[in-house]
Formats: sequence, C-alpha cells, structure tokens
Amino acid sequence: MTDIASKMSYSLAHAFRHRKKRKGITKNLMPEPTLFQKIILREIPAEILLETEEAIVIKDIHPQAPVHVLIIPKKLIPRISESREEDALLLGKLLLTAKAFAERENLSNGYRLVINNGRMAGETVPHLHIHLFAGRHMTWPPC
Ligand code: AMP
Repeated sequence: MTDIASKMSYSLAHAFRHRKKRKGITKNLMPEPTLFQKIILREIPAEILLETEEAIVIKDIHPQAPVHVLIIPKKLIPRISESREEDALLLGKLLLTAKAFAERENLSNGYRLVINNGRMAGETVPHLHIHLFAGRHMTWPPC
C-alpha cells in the first residue's frame, strides 16, 4: 500500500475505532461509516478488482450487466451534489480509473458510466460511486 493510501486507511480506521470506543456514551455523534468505507477498510468483504491511491473498483453485488463494477473514492463524498471545487482533481481521477479499468478489461465494444444522485435517481448508498456497465447492448434513454 502506498504512503497516502495507508495514511488514509489509518485515519479511517482510527475514526471507526474512536466511534466504537465512544459508543454508548456519545451515541450518534460519530457518523456511521458507509458500507463502502467498511469495504475500503476490509471490514466487509467485496471483490476488489483494482485499487489506486484514491479509489477502489469493486464488483457490484447485484450485477445489472455481464460487467458491472463500482468506482468508489476512498474519500467520503456522499453524492456528486455535495462535491466541492477542491474535489475536482479526485473526480477527474475517478473517470480516469474507469477508463483504466475498461482498457485493462478490453471493453473495446463500449461501456456506460452512471452516477445516481439522490433517492429519486436510485441512489441507495450515500457514498459517491460511478457504476460501469458493459458486456451487453445498452438501451436509450437509460430510464
Ligand atoms: P446506488 O443505488 O447507485 O447507490 O448503487 C449502489 C450499488 O451498490 C448497487 O448497485 C448495489 O447492488 C451495490 N452494492 C450494495 N451492497 C454491496 C456490496 N456489499 N458489495 C458490492 N456492491 C454492493
């Protein structure tokens, strides 16, 4: 693991331990880690297909296409509507990670990237992620 990644994992792990220690006394003061934070910390198993300093790529547990993976930033941004100017580089890197994954997997026939923002758009996990679908014809419009 790189320096930055291990520091990031350490601070995530530290926050999680801190939350556990204080549970009961200051319940609800520390936010519950998201499902994806737990996967990043290896607290919940997942098929991690690629890892960079900033992100992981995992197999979706309920695939909607022959290839369905999620590109997830290690930094917790709940959803794209809550991203900030300072996240610009990270957001760009997530797209480049999708591209790198597609190239590695030889998805030369095409792939689709989707971000669900908010409940009405189908967002179920409040931790920004990009869906990558491939391996079948996609319909349009997508809804
Ligand atoms: P969204 O509905 O856009 O928030 O996407 C969340 C995605 O996470 C869904 O496609 C789920 O199937 C997927 N998901 C939920 N739990 C897991 C898990 N434990 N491992 C991998 N993917 C998951």
